[in-house]
Amino acid sequence: MSRIAILIVAAGKGERTGRAGPKQYEPLAGRPMLRRTADVFSDWPLRVVIGPGQDALYRTAMGADAPAPIIGGARRQDSVRLGLEALADDAPDFVLIHDAARPLVSRAVIARTIAALEAGATGAVPMLPVADTLRRKDGDAWITVPRDGLLRAQTPQGFRFADILKAHRDHAGADATDDVAIAELAGLAVDAVLGEEENLKVTTEKDFALAERLLGFLDGRSAGAALHETRSAMGYDAHRFTDGDHVWLCGVQVPHDHGLEGHSDADAGLHALTDAVLGCISAGDIGQHFPPTDERWRGAPSWKFLDHAHRLVKDKGGAILHCDVTLICERPKIGPHREAMRARIAEILSLDIERVSVKATTTEGMGYTGRREGLAAQAVATVRLPARD
Ligand code: MG
Repeated sequence: MSRIAILIVAAGKGERTGRAGPKQYEPLAGRPMLRRTADVFSDWPLRVVIGPGQDALYRTAMGADAPAPIIGGARRQDSVRLGLEALADDAPDFVLIHDAARPLVSRAVIARTIAALEAGATGAVPMLPVADTLRRKDGDAWITVPRDGLLRAQTPQGFRFADILKAHRDHAGADATDDVAIAELAGLAVDAVLGEEENLKVTTEKDFALAERLLGFLDGRSAGAALHETRSAMGYDAHRFTDGDHVWLCGVQVPHDHGLEGHSDADAGLHALTDAVLGCISAGDIGQHFPPTDERWRGAPSWKFLDHAHRLVKDKGGAILHCDVTLICERPKIGPHREAMRARIAEILSLDIERVSVKATTTEGMGYTGRREGLAAQAVATVRLPARD
């Protein structure tokens, strides 16, 4: 498994937006732009390069648990070089360098960049063709510039760490607007991967408005049907009571006069929810991914199953929007643990707790849950996925 580090460059003063502070700390659809950008890369170790004097802004935007920022330099490339130097002790295999001002980068673009590096590329950059006709002023006249072969470079730009660190050290004096330019000076080959129009660089106030409109699409708040689709699926699970003094439900240990029988921790709530999430991407069921015959999953905590299903959704460029679990049992009483269960599921899925619902019911003494032979759980998950043609 290759070791990948993320370097986010957030050192700009952002003067072109006309806003009071640096743009990367400004709210974008309710969240600081830098935080939105960093959240997309939450699966990898990440460091952020900030401008001198931006510590307080950084802490406010990123929260108390954020990794220590790296203080950048005068130009973007100085900031990147200082960021790479700060990573040198860890010496990851690859580094992805990304602009904080591209908060709409998708996991699909990140995955393509990483895939190119893991396939052996020295460098990889998301690119898009130029659709508009290009013209250049030549004295008083305009000259049309042939756009054949012209491409627009985005970020993240991925490189073998040692190569790009050396390139930045060797060419610290050159002028470069991105890291591919530095790589070129060092003679490093860089592969193109497919970029995305949505991965725009937020520079002006108009860009903020456009990005917020796109996030509206992404959040499903407006007519985004052309870009994304929303899917719901359900899951169901039941486990039998056995000897014990606690049960695991929705990731929370609940004291009880019985335990639950099962190969893993028998958390029917998380099993039902895992199946619901898998159902949204038609990825089979929990038993296919984690066979009960596999010794690895004996006694396993079920959050691992849910986390796996969540990753599969993210790998498709999707996101979980909401989940709703109903626990069906006479005992134990769920009410006292309901908020802890919501909080735990929200934590496992990195979701706002408002997007997590846990409910409970009995079957009025009827059936196997009524006879207290075991308990059952139902779940519905809703995910957003990139639209398919
Ligand atoms: Mg189960």
